[in-house]
Amino acid sequence: MLNLFQPTLGAEELEAVRRVFKSNWVGKGGITDQFESNFAHYIGVERNLIRSVSCCTEGLFQSMVLLGIGPGDEVILPSISFVGAANAVASSGAKPVFCDVDKRTLNTTAKLIEEMITEKTKAVIILHYGGVPCRIDEICELVNQRRIALIEDVAGSVASRYEGKACGTFGHIGLWSFDAMKILVAGDGGMIYCRTAEMAQDAEELLHLGLLTKSGFKSSATTRWWEFEVSSYGRRATMNDIASAIGLEQLKKLPGFVTRRKQIHEYYDQAFSAYSWLQLPPERPAHMESSYYFYWIQVRSDIRDKLAIYLRERDIYTTFRYYPLHWVKFYGAQISLPNTEEAAEATLCIPIHQSLSNEDLDRVIKCVSDFGKGI
Ligand SMILES: *Cc1c(COP(=O)(O)O)cnc(C)c1O
Repeated sequence: MLNLFQPTLGAEELEAVRRVFKSNWVGKGGITDQFESNFAHYIGVERNLIRSVSCCTEGLFQSMVLLGIGPGDEVILPSISFVGAANAVASSGAKPVFCDVDKRTLNTTAKLIEEMITEKTKAVIILHYGGVPCRIDEICELVNQRRIALIEDVAGSVASRYEGKACGTFGHIGLWSFDAMKILVAGDGGMIYCRTAEMAQDAEELLHLGLLTKSGFKSSATTRWWEFEVSSYGRRATMNDIASAIGLEQLKKLPGFVTRRKQIHEYYDQAFSAYSWLQLPPERPAHMESSYYFYWIQVRSDIRDKLAIYLRERDIYTTFRYYPLHWVKFYGAQISLPNTEEAAEATLCIPIHQSLSNEDLDRVIKCVSDFGKGI
């Protein structure tokens, strides 16, 4: 089966993990500190604005606490979002309010967000679909004007930039993921960016039991170094040195991963532009850099599912990300979002990861082409 996503882990990561084993310190320590520093440098922000988090979903949950969001509040997010984002909002007691997306980019826009703003709106969680930036300038202008917090879910946008500035650093909070399906893979893990050093300090405490003091060897106390105080009912949700050691190696390889993904994107574009029955991902303006997290095509809604099954029968896995949350009964949203619904019936994400060979791509293209002959 050709995977949709696949990590690229090798000898360097194994060697890095071996060194962590030998050090006898596998928890959060110097390696995680190094990973946070290097990641901050890569993203282009001050080191003290970045903290590691056990996964992006945990970061989404904690962002509700950090921004003081709770019962009576509303948080707007596109219906085409990761399920954990809606769970984070709803579990805080606030109401997730789903907004529509552009049916070609599957990104939301300032205009679509604005339609859903009420006096209860406290925050917006945006997603850069497939690693392609939203029109973030317009969204920032809107949220600044309306004094609403902005959270960027940049789980799949580790290399995405808008006018040269890293996605994830435009709002109050940005959240990256290093889970097994992402571009930079650490097994599990993530990073949180906070706009201010104070909020990042709060995040650090929330993610580490609410502890105000450094324990163990890091404690500056000369006696009774076991005493502590807490600032909140914090959980324990940081990365550890094993995952961080993998992350550090992956960070070095990231530019190469993105280059290969870009080649794959262009290879598909080139081949698929010959077929009038499918639409390529929309062209991206030059000031937007993508992470090439997804490659998606759009076809007539009556053939999309048939194409998915046809490819799966030929050992090519495809999917549609992200299933619209306003269709998930549990959230109880009784709205219709026309663009979202149209896109959700027409869009198919096909395999893209840096380990695909040109022969793999040719096989995908041939199968898509063969399917096209039958319609
Ligand atoms: C994968 C993903 C997440 C969740 O990341 P975890 O680290 O697995 O919690 C959140 N948002 C988006 C858009 C994702 O693709």
